Amino acid sequence: PPAIRIDNLVKEYASPGPGEPPKLALKGVSFDVPQGGVFGLLGPNGAGKSTLINILAGLVRKTSGSAEIWGFDIDDNPRNAKRSIGIVPQEIVFDPFFTPFEVLENQGGFYGIGKKDRRSKDLLAAVHLSDKRDAYARTLSGGMKRRLLIAKAMVHSPPILVLDEPTAGVDVELRRQLWELVQELNSEGVTVVLTTHYLEEAEQLCDRIAIINHGELIANKPTKELVGMA
Ligand code: ADP
Ligand code: ADP
Repeated sequence: PPAIRIDNLVKEYASPGPGEPPKLALKGVSFDVPQGGVFGLLGPNGAGKSTLINILAGLVRKTSGSAEIWGFDIDDNPRNAKRSIGIVPQEIVFDPFFTPFEVLENQGGFYGIGKKDRRSKDLLAAVHLSDKRDAYARTLSGGMKRRLLIAKAMVHSPPILVLDEPTAGVDVELRRQLWELVQELNSEGVTVVLTTHYLEEAEQLCDRIAIINHGELIANKPTKELVGMA
């Protein structure tokens, strides 16, 4: 199957208050994410990118249409769908008094992975945080926290990693580090999906780009073709 298949996905948020219309955040979006690549979902703020990611993560309920992750329908087979994807959220949310090692061990426990089968040490090495294994999360730099979030999303060894605006508000040096990490993970076989509003980021990192605007898909092409058009 494709890594992700989105078919005619619609999301209408309820009216925020009396006299205000409901918000149609996704207006029937369809596309496939092929296995093995780095897929960019590009669009301006408010386009519907986070809504789409949150539907895949099981955090937002779709209004209609369907979504499959690794062949598992998110409604018919939510458990397998969820296990096939690791989500790196935009906001950094850790207990400040946990260490990176503990964050990963706890997440392993959450997924029911036995102590002996957890990969916390390997994951810390993969995101270049081995030397921070026992530091309190609150003492980590912003970049370290972002790398820890990526490791946390990989605890259950999902074949797909989804990053929501991984470099929003990040300086040039850290952006470069995160790009390298994404490429390393992809070269190890992980299908990567990322949302961004930076065209340059999508061009540099992604082999395929879908553009979403006002809840509608307006392009979905190999990066080379898309850039050739501009
Ligand atoms: P993006 O991630 O591309 O910036 P979002 O998916 O966050 O876009 O938002 C798409 C549209 O849906 C925006 O108009 C936004 O204001 C609206 N929206 C997002 N979340 C909610 C919500 N919980 N309730 C109502 N409207 C929302
Ligand atoms: P559940 O739906 O089983 O209640 P939650 O959505 O409450 O699970 O998530 C619990 C914890 O697991 C949180 O730390 C959340 O960030 C994390 N989590 C859940 N699903 C994923 C996923 N697919 N990738 C990464 N982390 C996840």
